[in-house]
Amino acid sequence: MKEIFKQEKLPYRYDSLEPYIDMETMETHFTKHHAGYVKKLNAAVNDYEELHNKTIEGILSDISIVPDEIEQAVINNGGGHANHTLFWNIMNSQGGDEPTGKLANDIKETFGSFEGFKEDFEKAAASRFGSGWAWLVIDENGKLQITATANQDSPLMNSLTPILGLDVWEHAYYLKYKNKRDEYINNWWNVVYWDKVGKLYEQALQ
Ligand code: MN
Repeated sequence: MKEIFKQEKLPYRYDSLEPYIDMETMETHFTKHHAGYVKKLNAAVNDYEELHNKTIEGILSDISIVPDEIEQAVINNGGGHANHTLFWNIMNSQGGDEPTGKLANDIKETFGSFEGFKEDFEKAAASRFGSGWAWLVIDENGKLQITATANQDSPLMNSLTPILGLDVWEHAYYLKYKNKRDEYINNWWNVVYWDKVGKLYEQALQ
């Protein structure tokens, strides 16, 4: 099996986000869950050379190019790959501050305040029934929006560009938080790397 899509190296150590995200969760999440999506994605696209030179984000943004017989596998595992790649990159051990610059202004304009934004985002994350993600995305008009998706569905499939995502699958928090998804969500703000989110925002608007 060719390694068509590759998992980027984690940009920090497994214990870097302690105590908010524990080392065991981080290691299992990266080496088992995310790695598993990449492996299954590669198996799905192996015989479809027309997809080999594309980015996973490009494929998800244009899902109709994927042959029907592998479409659901690409949605699940390609989504899983893209979603987790973003997730690792928008967290770090020096996170937890607030957005700055244009992102800060536009969050205030769209959601009333940073606190108001956090409340709406937490609501989206807490009320996602079952497995899925909460997102801060940019819509086709360049406006910020909060949304949630089921399973590993990527916002890219709905022409929405994610700049911040929170994994609310139980595998993301159950070892440490058990059934307390709310506590995981509240603690997660401590590791959000707003500088990176701000950069993704400005890149996406270009
Ligand atoms: Mn996950």
